[in-house]
Amino acid sequence: MKCTIEGCPGEYEDRQIVHTVRHRGQVIVIDQVPAEVCTICGDVLLKPETVRRLEKMLQTSAKAKKTAPLFDYV
Ligand SMILES: [Zn+2]
Repeated sequence: MKCTIEGCPGEYEDRQIVHTVRHRGQVIVIDQVPAEVCTICGDVLLKPETVRRLEKMLQTSAKAKKTAPLFDYV
């Protein structure tokens, strides 16, 4: 699929990404999320069912499997 960013000639390809969301003041990191990523500009598309699944995970407050170091840039 062609990239939706104006002027970008890239195409989306299937990849697994690290998705980060802020949920109730907490930073949640979800690894291995299937997404489509533009090969040129890196624009990320999530399928509606993927978004729904992520929302469900947050609502059911699934237990984290791993922890990751979290840094603030500033
Ligand atoms: Zn692009």
